Amino acid sequence: MSSLYARYAQWLHTGWPAGTVEKLPDCDEHGRTAIPGVRIVGDLTGIPLLKFSSDSGARAVREIAAEKSEAGSRKSEVLDLAIVGAGVAGVSAAIEARRAGLHFAIYEAGEVFSTVVNFPKGKPIYTYPTEMKLEGGLQFTADVKEALVAEMEAQRKAAGVEVTAARIERLESAGGELVLHHADQTKTRARHVIVAIGRSGNFRKLGAPGEDLDKVYNRLHDPKEFAGKKVLVVGGGDSAIETAIALGACGAHVTLSYRKKEFTRPKPENIEKLHALAANADHPVEIVHPSSERVNTVVTHAMQQATPTGSVKLLLGSEILGITPDAVTLRDAAGAELGLPNDVVFTMLGREAPLDFFRRSGLAIRGEWTTKTWTSLLLFAAFCIFLYHWKGGGGHSVYEAFKAHHWFPFNVPDGLAALSAAASDPRTMLGTLKDAAGAPSFYFSVVYSALIVIFGVKRIVRRKTPYITAQTVTLMAVQLVPLFLLPYLLLPWMGANGWFDAGFGRSFADQFFPVEYGARAYWRSFGFILAWPLFIWNVFTDHPTTGWLVLGFVQTFVIIPLIVWRWGKGAYCGWICSCGALAETLGDTHRHKMPHGPRANRWNMTGQIILWIAMGLLGLRILGWIAAAVPALGFLGFANVIYYGLLGGFAQSGPLSWFSYRYLVDLWLAGVVGVAAYFWFSGRVWCRFACPLAALMHIYARFSRFRIFPEKKKCISCNVCTSVCHQGIDVMSFANKGQPMEDPQCVRCSACVQQCPTGVLAFGRLGEEGVPILDRLAASPVRMREGK
Ligand SMILES: Cc1cc2nc3c(=O)[nH]c(=O)nc-3n(C[C@H](O)[C@H](O)[C@H](O)COP(=O)(O)OP(=O)(O)OC[C@H]3O[C@@H](n4cnc5c(N)ncnc54)[C@H](O)[C@@H]3O)c2cc1C
Ligand code: SF4
Ligand code: SF4
Ligand code: SF4
Repeated sequence: MSSLYARYAQWLHTGWPAGTVEKLPDCDEHGRTAIPGVRIVGDLTGIPLLKFSSDSGARAVREIAAEKSEAGSRKSEVLDLAIVGAGVAGVSAAIEARRAGLHFAIYEAGEVFSTVVNFPKGKPIYTYPTEMKLEGGLQFTADVKEALVAEMEAQRKAAGVEVTAARIERLESAGGELVLHHADQTKTRARHVIVAIGRSGNFRKLGAPGEDLDKVYNRLHDPKEFAGKKVLVVGGGDSAIETAIALGACGAHVTLSYRKKEFTRPKPENIEKLHALAANADHPVEIVHPSSERVNTVVTHAMQQATPTGSVKLLLGSEILGITPDAVTLRDAAGAELGLPNDVVFTMLGREAPLDFFRRSGLAIRGEWTTKTWTSLLLFAAFCIFLYHWKGGGGHSVYEAFKAHHWFPFNVPDGLAALSAAASDPRTMLGTLKDAAGAPSFYFSVVYSALIVIFGVKRIVRRKTPYITAQTVTLMAVQLVPLFLLPYLLLPWMGANGWFDAGFGRSFADQFFPVEYGARAYWRSFGFILAWPLFIWNVFTDHPTTGWLVLGFVQTFVIIPLIVWRWGKGAYCGWICSCGALAETLGDTHRHKMPHGPRANRWNMTGQIILWIAMGLLGLRILGWIAAAVPALGFLGFANVIYYGLLGGFAQSGPLSWFSYRYLVDLWLAGVVGVAAYFWFSGRVWCRFACPLAALMHIYARFSRFRIFPEKKKCISCNVCTSVCHQGIDVMSFANKGQPMEDPQCVRCSACVQQCPTGVLAFGRLGEEGVPILDRLAASPVRMREGK
């Protein structure tokens, strides 16, 4: 049974790549942080490339210069701008600050351009994206490291930028100014600070004894230096594999140790080269375009031929126990201890951004939790619980209390009636509004719709692609018309004016909003948009109508499967559903908060469990209907007992009432967790983990033609696409391997396509014989510029 579940989970969710996202300091798209006046630029904003670093530095200064001229002149003993770090982004900012005439200083803890100066000798330079033209700041034409350093130095000097040698320990905001605390205890005051300290900070540690020995490196500059040496390389990413290949090809005797039993993240061609070299040490290999950040292992055939034959041995599933000056000790996959003679160790485990600087400065790190974070989450969750019970309708304690005391909004209809006589006539629009305005759910919908419209407009302005515009306008229209105006104003007004009193109108209304408790249940019209099992109440009722049963069946089991097959699950979740509408608008700037990785992917199965419970409830519900309709089958009435218990709770109150679909799914998962999580885990928590309709669509999506197609050669493995995916998809692992993205979680939000700096990704579908057919609606600004 458990292996069946594991296979099902693997087929649906856990089999997809599940790379995690590097921790970075929290800032908005302009690099602005929570401390007013402090901006982050360069590698720390997420894209580790020269051009982006230079551009972000120069752009930040232009924005600061614009703010300064608006504010007018101020005290001159305080710097207009202090720049921390004289790397690519910092010097680019300084050049722009000189041009803008700002009173500024730039501080460097090590060497000017230290990251680039430390590139290996003769390293080729790739200036992606090739079509990107830089406005101001540093410009790049060089194609090798030495020429790059020379041209950047020449530009710095030509601009008259002098760098002050100083390590800045932390920042502080005091008295409306910013204070820079230097390592030598001195202080500098400034109105604006640009932090450009790069990512070279802390290399990840192995945590084994002997790691601090001189023979342990975390960057390879020249593989030829290690010819004939016994080398241990530790790690399982592209940098570790490329290091092992480079060393092995240049004559070293390499053992590669990786804690997992197989490689999952590296590029397939790297894995292929590694295995080829392990099988035959003379196999010709090259690394022409090294990977992303640790691109320091360029190897050519000429280098390989110029050194004696080396060797490569793989120790997968192994663990390093200790390092001594002439040996290493490991535990192999079988648990046995191994001692290997050793001259040098490369720990290629990746590195963390220099986050301590930000922690010391009181700046938040994405994904890190403090007491304040927990407190604000709990307070907001408490507010959501209150809101749920306030808007929940009859039977909910808060609702009843507000009603009994005639508190807001139960006092609003009287106020409106006093304002105008027309409000007392339900046939007028004001009269209809007066009746609607007495229900808390009306205000909930007003606020919900307003948030979608306000943040939707912001999204359109911020993202600027035809795809985002069309998608957001559609989401706003669906929310405003069928999900707000129709149930709250149009249908009640039509009803009051006799539209549903006779003929077709009456038959239609009896099917879709029958009279319940003395009034037509217009709220049931939510079901025109929200399908079962997301909106369950048109099906889970004692008196089902044929209209809803037929429409519900066609929606859930005919229309939705067809659109998912053609356009993917996102056609519904990203273009129609109101929950998706709020997530894409209010949640637009919170998308990077979604947890990534294998553990989070396992939680994707929660929705399947809820789906199967909903299916079970449906079965019981049908038995209950049969029992009521066919007296001979009245014994099936037992199903009602279980159905009502599971749906509403086996007791009215107390712990037993908590274990019900209404309490756990409707209140906690949809009402509280889904909404309360917005500002802490992104707007798609409910959608990704729990929504039963999405769970059903995940199954449909496994048969869909929809894909996100990558242009592999343009992918620079920057991980931006993965980090902005609020469905937790590891988009980069598809893109850098050239595989079309087919994870069923995709909601077609287009964030990955829109934010990819090199325009790698495009929406489309598999045509006949698997030929990609790309969408015509443009979603990538880079591809638009390239005329694609
Ligand atoms: C080996 C390698 C190869 C690369 N190859 C390419 C390539 O071919 N093409 C490409 O486009 N990109 C490449 N990159 C990426 C490129 O180098 C970076 O995008 C760029 O250097 C980032 O610039 P930055 O200013 O953000 O950070 P950095 O260049 O890292 O500069 C940060 C500076 O801040 C200083 N600093 C740190 N902390 C403090 C402090 N507390 N106080 C004062 N100063 C501080 C550091 O000493 C450093 O000089 C490569 C990167 C590496 C590591
Ligand atoms: S996952 Fe569910 S709630 Fe979210 S957008 Fe899709 S159908 Fe709507
Ligand atoms: S596809 Fe992803 S990893 Fe590749 S360049 Fe684009 S954003 Fe970066
Ligand atoms: S479009 Fe991209 S970012 Fe959005 S859900 Fe799909 S894979 Fe994730």
